[in-house]
Amino acid sequence: MSEREFDLIARIRRRVAARADVVLGIGDDCALLAPPPGMLLAVTTDTLNAGVHFPADTAPTDLGWKALAVNLSDLAAMGAQPAWCTLALSLPQADAAWLDAFCDGFLALAQDYGMTLVGGDTTRGPLAITVTAHGCVPAGAALRRDGAGVGDEVWVSGTLGDAAAALAQWRAGHAMAPALRARLDRPMPRVALGLALRGVASSCIDISDGLLADLAHVCRASGVGAEIAADALPASPALQAAFAGDRRRVLQATGGDDYELCFTAPAAQREAVQALGARLGLPLARIGRIVAGSEVRCTGLDGFGPLAPGYQHFA
Ligand code: ADP
Ligand code: MG
Repeated sequence: MSEREFDLIARIRRRVAARADVVLGIGDDCALLAPPPGMLLAVTTDTLNAGVHFPADTAPTDLGWKALAVNLSDLAAMGAQPAWCTLALSLPQADAAWLDAFCDGFLALAQDYGMTLVGGDTTRGPLAITVTAHGCVPAGAALRRDGAGVGDEVWVSGTLGDAAAALAQWRAGHAMAPALRARLDRPMPRVALGLALRGVASSCIDISDGLLADLAHVCRASGVGAEIAADALPASPALQAAFAGDRRRVLQATGGDDYELCFTAPAAQREAVQALGARLGLPLARIGRIVAGSEVRCTGLDGFGPLAPGYQHFA
């Protein structure tokens, strides 16, 4: 190693912002944190493995961003306010330039959300990044998967299929369209939307594995089914320019990695949902409804044969 573990940790530590509720941050055996009274802690972990979750040549700045973004997306889906995170890094070598670039992406996003890095672990091994994120949500206000009710409307934020489209172009040996690649490398966690949906949405999930696969998790947890209209799924101009017809609709319905929110809300909340979308400047599309049963059906993709389920690690 050209640089020792504690030098790497010191490089990270000196860049970390302070936060009043961090009683003790990086440097001791544990961090000491002071959660606000009356709040529940929302805790989530996600790992990115080289070759599985990102192409091995992904820029370290983008990796730093994405490693935190996927965790912020889970906090968003729960309606939690981001607060603290930890970072476990497995690195093939002690490369200070790589680490600095990684921190550029990671800490830029942390700063956007007032989040502080309070600890972690640094080891040598195949490139892998595990982030644990902590947020706060008032008791009873969390957006859970098990609250969808028959008759609720199903909504998604932003546009779907862009990240999967970038990967499809990459796998086919084509150049990735820049706007699509940006969605893959720099997902924007919908934190403000998650917070605004407290008291409005009946259930919520972030779309990491593909809309139909993730909506199926909501339906299973809630004991309901869903009917989605493929024509109602929102598409970005970049996706429309690159893919047409069923090819595009399949990317939108089953592609992962966009980190948009899929949520349900009673029909009586439709105007409230539209109003908060307008306030946040974030398009929200009504794509279907919750029905009795246990199936997720997507009309407009019928004749297409069985759709691939979300990505499965141990399949
Ligand atoms: P320990 O042996 O007690 O686990 P370490 O030597 O692993 O301690 O870490 C020393 C301190 O540096 C701890 O406070 C730990 O949380 C922090 N730390 C280690 N690696 C990282 C990292 N990648 N990012 C942030 N903090 C880290
Ligand atoms: Mg350690």
